[in-house]
Amino acid sequence: MPKYKIIYDKPTCIGAASCVAVAPKFWELVGDKAELIGSTYNEQTKKYELIIETAEDLQLNQDAEQVCPVAAIKVEKIED
Ligand code: SF4
Repeated sequence: MPKYKIIYDKPTCIGAASCVAVAPKFWELVGDKAELIGSTYNEQTKKYELIIETAEDLQLNQDAEQVCPVAAIKVEKIED
């Protein structure tokens, strides 16, 4: 399967928890912000990133991307 990456802009998050509702395997609410479980912080972009390994996980995070009211979550293809 092509490789995808989740890119999460934490400062944009308003804590609506929609991502947590659709993909609790990846998203949890800590205080008033979501955390992308297992992600690493990219110092250059100032965003959190996580590689997606399976089609099922891709679907979960595409759902999270869609339901986030402030577009803090992006799912990008990084390799065919
Ligand atoms: S859906 Fe968006 S705004 Fe809501 S908690 Fe998740 S990342 Fe934050």
